[in-house]
Amino acid sequence: MKTGSTVLAQRSYAAIVSSAMDAIISIDAQQRIVLFNPAAERIFGVPAREALGQPIERFIPNRFRGTHADHVKTFGKTGVGNRRMREAGDAIGLRANGEEFPVECSISRVESGGRTQFSAVVRDVSERRRTEEALRQNEQRLEKIVAERTAELRECIAELEAFSYSLSHDMRAPLRAIRDFSQVVLAENGEKIGAPGTDYLKIVIKAAERLDRLTQDVLTFARLSCQPMQLEAVDVEKLVRSIISERPEWQPPRAVVEIASPLLPLGGNEASLTQCVTNLLGNAVKFVAHGTTPWVRISTEAGGDKVRLWFADNGIGIDKRVHRKIFDMFQRQHSRAEYEGSGLGLAIVRRAVERMGGEVGVVSEPGQGSRFWIELPKAQGAEQPKLAI
Ligand code: ADP
Repeated sequence: MKTGSTVLAQRSYAAIVSSAMDAIISIDAQQRIVLFNPAAERIFGVPAREALGQPIERFIPNRFRGTHADHVKTFGKTGVGNRRMREAGDAIGLRANGEEFPVECSISRVESGGRTQFSAVVRDVSERRRTEEALRQNEQRLEKIVAERTAELRECIAELEAFSYSLSHDMRAPLRAIRDFSQVVLAENGEKIGAPGTDYLKIVIKAAERLDRLTQDVLTFARLSCQPMQLEAVDVEKLVRSIISERPEWQPPRAVVEIASPLLPLGGNEASLTQCVTNLLGNAVKFVAHGTTPWVRISTEAGGDKVRLWFADNGIGIDKRVHRKIFDMFQRQHSRAEYEGSGLGLAIVRRAVERMGGEVGVVSEPGQGSRFWIELPKAQGAEQPKLAI
């Protein structure tokens, strides 16, 4: 006898089946359809009265029918309990009009009184798959556009760099001619010309020299981007000592450069590191208050698989707000009349370090000196000297 709650449960079960958005189909052990809800009618394009009693194969594409039959035979046989089993997965459905479509289904097997039924909740995912496919295609299109634009930009940058390289290169010969001939005129005819003519000539010589330094920096910068870079273990201490030995202006009494020996070796490119050390040391010695003897301390610090090379100075310091900016091209914080320079020194350092796979930075405040650092991978395979104290 049916109790009130059983009737209620059956009615709500029937209501769920008939109002479900997904197809709900049940088949018996002979794979004949015994339940076909309204959503199944809509999705498969067949009224329930036509579907009931039909083999389920009707809604499965030919090539999957054998596998499906095998699946029904083994379904639930390997699981725990073996009375109710569930499975979910992707499959292909077949509509009455012959159209195939992707479905997601969850199947359960129910046994009662020696009879077995399989019920499937079948979701038509063709719309979702179309959207996914459209999204995928859009993504591919976007990736293609980005790749094309990047290639165009790279080409454009390469052209500009080649242009600035050849311009700078070609400018150096006439510049040297201007400087050298002005010097000749000054030396041979200076007395005859007299002031202010000789002062003007001196200005021409200074300007030509400044422009020559600028073109050299532009050449260095451009070269950094077009040349392949070989990375190797670099003995930084040896490198720093040899750079300083060639520059009397970085030695006592004109300046004091301390080395916190031993410096750790770095993984980098020797030529590029020479450029970085030269530029950072040059700045450290240059940007000091007038009348102050420049003092610089070079040290290394290990951190994980990286090493930081520090340049601490007793210079004029740098406002926090411009710490990032000074590594950009032509960013100078001090007038040229005060401190000579092209505004490319730190841009060269950053580009070189980035090309070696590292980073640059500065810790500084006005009046407190500056501590510039470059961080590069530890030298591979090189024996690591002990950390400097
Ligand atoms: P340049 O030295 O030719 O001016 P850089 O690119 O080397 O160009 O430096 C950019 C600016 O950063 C400098 O003009 C200066 O204002 C600031 N700067 C760089 N190094 C130091 C330093 N050690 N101490 C103080 N200011 C510095």
